[in-house]
Order: sequence, then C-alpha cells, then structure tokens
Amino acid sequence: MSMISKKMCLVGDFGVGKTSLIRRFVDRQFSDQYLSTVGVKISRKNIELIGAKEQEKLDLQLLIWDLEGHTKFKAIAPSYLQGASGAVIVADVSRQETIERIPEHLQLFTSVNPKSSIIIALNKSDLIDEEKLAKLFELVEDLSHEQILSIHTTSAKIGKDVDEIFQKLAYKMVEPV
Ligand code: GDP
Ligand code: MG
Repeated sequence: MSMISKKMCLVGDFGVGKTSLIRRFVDRQFSDQYLSTVGVKISRKNIELIGAKEQEKLDLQLLIWDLEGHTKFKAIAPSYLQGASGAVIVADVSRQETIERIPEHLQLFTSVNPKSSIIIALNKSDLIDEEKLAKLFELVEDLSHEQILSIHTTSAKIGKDVDEIFQKLAYKMVEPV
C-alpha cells in the first residue's frame, strides 16, 4: 500500500476557531480555553482514502498547518502557504467582519497556490440560529471561485461537519490534476 503526504493550511482571522477545528479532527477534543502560542504548528493525521473500487485504498498523511498567535493586522507569510495542496478558510459566524475578510484570504491563498482546492468553514454555527446561518451562507456562496470546492457550516464545539470538511478536502487533494 502506498503512503503519501500532503500539506493543508488553515487560514482565517484570529479567534475564528482554526486551532479548535484541528483539535477536534486530530485529537477528538474541544476546549473553551483560549490557548495561543506563537508560531506555526503542524499536526499530522493519517487517513485512509477509499477509491471508487474498494481495493483502491490510499494511506494519506495529512500535514495540517496552523498559524498561531497572529493578529488580524499581521499579514500571513507566503512561505506558510507554499506547497499546500488545500486550504480550509475559516470564518466565525458570530463576527461578520471575519466573513467579510474571506475574499482577502482567498486572494492570498490562490495567488500562492493557483491549483489547490479550498473549503470554506463558517464556524461556530452553534452560536446563531438557522435563519441567520442561511443568510450568511448565501452571502458567501456569491463569492464563487473556481478553487472553492464547497462551503460548510461547522462547529468545533459540538463537532458539526468537522470530519466532513477535512475528509472532503483530503479526497480532492489526492486527485490527479
Ligand atoms: P483560532 O485563533 O482561529 O485558532 O481560534 P481558536 O481555535 O483558538 O478559537 C477561538 C475561541 O473560539 C476559543 O475560545 C474557542 O473555544 C472558541 N471556539 C472555536 N470554535 C468554536 C465553535 O465552533 N463554537 C463555539 N461556541 N466556540 C468556538
Ligand atoms: Mg489558533
């Protein structure tokens, strides 16, 4: 069985839940504590991808890059994004300004990686009602960019759609271009 490695980046404003989504997916945990260290943290997660035919299995080592402790005024270094096969752009549905900044993150990531896929996670969906969530979703749908694979409402807190976004992006990242 073959084993390959791919880099995925989490991108988004400070406090939107990037680290929490990774912790939920990799460690199956969530914490309300605001833990922030400075630097880049790379989490590894091995996942098994199953092809159209059952016997086409692929072991993928996902290297999930997380930028920690940066403020919204500090630009993301292109070196952080370089070589990424995919990105999750995260926004916080309880803070509209983090949604308004999605296009900036999108622009930066796609300029460094013009062929990589992106999933948008509208996180903290546990904090607002369905109706408001639907409106925000529509707003983000209008962005329509060829590199955006899909948009999801997620919650790292209750575990909603967390595995789904990572898995879906992972499948796309190993597709031949
Ligand atoms: P980061 O700066 O993007 O890495 O954000 P963190 O993962 O550190 O999360 C910032 C804060 O939001 C923390 O206090 C988390 O506990 C909280 N948080 C993260 N995800 C969720 C979520 O889905 N729902 C709720 N209610 N809080 C969340
Ligand atoms: Mg963080």
